[in-house]
Amino acid sequence: MAQVEFKNVVKDYGAFQAVKGVTFTVEDGEFVALVGPSGCGKTTTLNLIAGLLDLSDGEISISGRRINDLDPKDRDIAMVFQNYALYPNKTVGENLGFPLRMRKVPKAELNDKVNQAASLLDISHLLDRYPRELSGGQQQRVALGRALVRDPQVFLMDEPLSNLDAKLRVQMRAELTRFHKELNATVIYVTHDQLEAMTMADKMAVMNGGVLHQYDTPERVFEEPANLFVAGFVGSPAMNLLPASRIERDGQTFATGDRWEIALSERNASCARRSTSDQIVLGARHSSITIHEARTPNCIPARVYTVEPTGDLTYVHIEVGETRLVISTDPQSQITAGQDVWIDLEQERMHVFDAKSELRIRPE
Ligand code: ATP
Repeated sequence: MAQVEFKNVVKDYGAFQAVKGVTFTVEDGEFVALVGPSGCGKTTTLNLIAGLLDLSDGEISISGRRINDLDPKDRDIAMVFQNYALYPNKTVGENLGFPLRMRKVPKAELNDKVNQAASLLDISHLLDRYPRELSGGQQQRVALGRALVRDPQVFLMDEPLSNLDAKLRVQMRAELTRFHKELNATVIYVTHDQLEAMTMADKMAVMNGGVLHQYDTPERVFEEPANLFVAGFVGSPAMNLLPASRIERDGQTFATGDRWEIALSERNASCARRSTSDQIVLGARHSSITIHEARTPNCIPARVYTVEPTGDLTYVHIEVGETRLVISTDPQSQITAGQDVWIDLEQERMHVFDAKSELRIRPE
């Protein structure tokens, strides 16, 4: 297995720059998810590693060896795509063995590798079937097996689960995690689904508009988002973001908005004071806001827009001026649409962002 290093990687499609100087290192045996909204440059980045596209600038190396100019077939990489395209008139066994037959691997070794991959992926009993006789999840496992038999240095996966139904996706997520752990494989995995990334990856590379916004563990990306984009992208529901101004009065720091004002705790006040201007954005996860039905000190007045029961939790969508927030409450809550309420942001879990630079201001 291998370490993959990106140094200032740039990809231009004519005048359009799809990847804008991306730098990060995938350590040996790590599972890294490239996440971001549609068009952010994930697939382009993956194709640059595979050699399906040429870099415009920068460098990619695998285990210390520069691969920019290396032929795709010499990169020792296996790709699994969302359309897994198994050969319809070959059995599962023949599909699995195909990459090895192309490389003229001796028959005994080929059979050993096919059996090992089939056993790891729990498809040994399907070796004589044809792809049309398999479920979507089983076909996906065969596609994975076909990558696996090659014993590559790096696995690249581009939305491999997106054709599966929701239940199967959850199941395959667990399978992929187990596959990664057992092989200790280096995996780079593209998905637009941040939940998929959160649950499977050792690290997440969060991209937008060709820029890498944060490269960190899922926990840190969730708990300490680098900026407003990451805060608004990661988590379901995403972090609530409330624009505000900072004012100082009688030795106390306040955040104010359209007909509301709250005193900031010392921790948040010190963050707000380090903003490049008095314009800040308060960030709060849905679970760190409490709704009160009566006026309460240091709370923000709001109006309930809609109430969304989901079983375990009820999501209450509220409006503070023009800003819509989502708050989770107990399903027993009696709050209804159109009601006036007061919300309390838990200051210990609150984030303060610089509205101009859009960066999160770290507590001191
Ligand atoms: P998705 O999740 O929709 O697959 P992505 O994050 O994988 O998106 P890319 O496919 O890498 O995004 O595309 C990044 C940007 O580059 C997009 O704006 C896309 O329109 C543009 N792009 C991709 N391929 C080409 C091309 N061959 N020529 C010109 N522009 C391209």
